[in-house]
Amino acid sequence: MNDRETNPVAPTALVTGSTRGIGKAIADTLRRRGVHVITHGSGAGPVGGGQIAADLDDPAAPAQLWVDALAAARDAGRTRIDILVNNAGLFDAAPIDLSDIAWLDAWDRTLRINLSSAAQLSRLAVRHWQEDGDGGGRLVNIASRAAYRGDSPDHWHYAAAKSGLVAMTKTIARHYARDGVLAYTVCPGFVDTAIAGDYLESRGGAQLLRDIPLGRVARPEEIARIAAFCALDAPESMTGAVIDANGASFVR
Ligand code: NAD
Repeated sequence: MNDRETNPVAPTALVTGSTRGIGKAIADTLRRRGVHVITHGSGAGPVGGGQIAADLDDPAAPAQLWVDALAAARDAGRTRIDILVNNAGLFDAAPIDLSDIAWLDAWDRTLRINLSSAAQLSRLAVRHWQEDGDGGGRLVNIASRAAYRGDSPDHWHYAAAKSGLVAMTKTIARHYARDGVLAYTVCPGFVDTAIAGDYLESRGGAQLLRDIPLGRVARPEEIARIAAFCALDAPESMTGAVIDANGASFVR
């Protein structure tokens, strides 16, 4: 939307992958700001209580998720979705010595979940905002430091997907600003999203911290504050911006 103050109705947001981790923190932060949040999970986890289930590994799932989210918005007395946060993602390893087909399957799955499904949802959101003709909307895509720095040898596909997400978001920002569509990307470094267990050990332990001048990994709430800023507060002229949150572990 171009000017939120002209719209007295609190905005509605769809946040993908909001069952846990960063997505849950984003949903909670937006709710505290008065946003009506529609949440989503893969269906494999504890989805329920109003959350929409959709396995984004299925190419048909994003379209159905969008239809279900619009229906949920209408059930809540809303006419539109104002904000889309593409947060769902996975960080699966694809070691170089996998069989050819297993390696390619891993690529396809990571690209589908981390990039293509976000593209499908972004397209539906842009068309929704164009057709609506009532002030556009805001897109917030959660990419990664890996988009710029690259990732481990087991994660070529993850880095490529996140780079693609950055390029896609910039493209949307450049071409649909005139329709009131504002698009931002957030690039977190390591974020401690472990529900249980030792996150640090799972990602390389003390070596990981040596690489972060801040001396710690980010908290999900920090990424959520940035996402909420993009969704609600960021000046229109900031559209197309990429915001880093990595404790100065990668400064560019
Ligand atoms: P997480 O594993 O805690 O949560 C991921 C979310 O994505 C979950 O809600 C899950 O349901 C959803 N998801 C995963 N696969 C899905 C599928 N097939 N269909 C539908 N939903 C699916 O992860 P997180 O750490 O909170 O990551 C959230 C986002 O932040 C991801 O895009 C991730 O790439 C990005 N990120 C995370 C870190 C980090 O260190 N945690 C760093 C940089 C970027």
